[in-house]
Amino acid sequence: MAIYQNAQFLTQGNDNAFNLDRKPGEQVPHSGIYRCMGCGREIVAEESRQFPPQNHHQHTSTQGQIRWRLIVYADHKVK
Ligand SMILES: [Zn+2]
Repeated sequence: MAIYQNAQFLTQGNDNAFNLDRKPGEQVPHSGIYRCMGCGREIVAEESRQFPPQNHHQHTSTQGQIRWRLIVYADHKVK
């Protein structure tokens, strides 16, 4: 579970990017924190790079395939 201290630096959003699962090796669409929907592991992924390869971590058969979902979007705009 992602952890934060100060809620003023986070805001809730409903962009569809939060609903899409990404495969290992796929290009990262948005910089941020991603959660594996099979096991709950979290990673930081940078836009235009690639998600970790299939052998990044192992799943049991009940956890299914590795699939990364955006949980925190990193806003690069200067405020
Ligand atoms: Zn996993």
